[in-house]
Amino acid sequence: VLFLQGGALLQFGMVPMNFLRNTGKAADYIVTGTWSKKASEEAKTQGKVNVAWDGKAGNYNRVPRQDEIKLDPAAPYVYLCSNETIQGVQYPTLPQLGDVPLVCDSSSDFLCRPVPVERFGILFACAQKNAGPAGVTIVIIRDDLVAKSPSDLPSLLNYKIMAENKSLLNTPPTFAIYFVHLVTNWLLHDIGGLGKMEEINKKKSKLLYDAIDASAGFYQAHAEPSSRSIMNVPFRLADAAFEEPFLKGAAACGLVELKGHRSVGGCRASIYNAMPMAGVEALRDFMLDFAKKHAK
Ligand code: PMP
Repeated sequence: VLFLQGGALLQFGMVPMNFLRNTGKAADYIVTGTWSKKASEEAKTQGKVNVAWDGKAGNYNRVPRQDEIKLDPAAPYVYLCSNETIQGVQYPTLPQLGDVPLVCDSSSDFLCRPVPVERFGILFACAQKNAGPAGVTIVIIRDDLVAKSPSDLPSLLNYKIMAENKSLLNTPPTFAIYFVHLVTNWLLHDIGGLGKMEEINKKKSKLLYDAIDASAGFYQAHAEPSSRSIMNVPFRLADAAFEEPFLKGAAACGLVELKGHRSVGGCRASIYNAMPMAGVEALRDFMLDFAKKHAK
């Protein structure tokens, strides 16, 4: 387990720098939204990319079915993003992706539920959603991959050197790492582990999806039911003219930051681990009330 800097975005470059550059092979990328798309573009600066699936045709509203993923058996790794923060698309379970190392960007669902960590070659996550403050990126990487980092990379970009130096090659982001320690202790001892955290997150997200689904189309979820994220709930108001009054009315009740990401618009409720049930209930109540007043 490494504690690195540069955010998740640096991992978009570091992964192909360490494992794609100079191989002459193409890495498999499963593109389910903004962040995996961005990762595939960063990888192209280092080598060839095979897009194993791209959800563009459906406006990135779901993860692929197993039979839709076109893998290259010679790929040095296969890459996916377990939760697309902007589109609110999350894998309910990990697909079967063969024997090549699996690289996962778990930035926006790290610690939201238990994961089969042994199935990943690399699992990375920036801290600033569920783990702590921005400034540290957690990288869980298999020993056999660490050993393969090429020696001609700058030290801070080389997994092997960072691992040999126990993430202490230069001054680490000490406060951010300390904060992650406090958060993982809270998860273990106050919440009761990731299984419990998942139960809570499922309940929280269900409150919102149920309100959306029961609104007779007044609210519309972006993601298909089978791919809905338990962390980010993007939705639209069918009549876009209500969006501004919705956001203003919500803000007046203390429900803020509900505007969707600038790249997609609409609304988005990000309900990370730290958002208590009461916060989600308050949003749900506001949504029901707003729909009652304005639905035809
Ligand atoms: N991947 C995902 C899934 C994200 O949500 C984000 C940040 N919103 C990033 C990567 C980029 O993270 P950072 O800002 O730490 O580079």
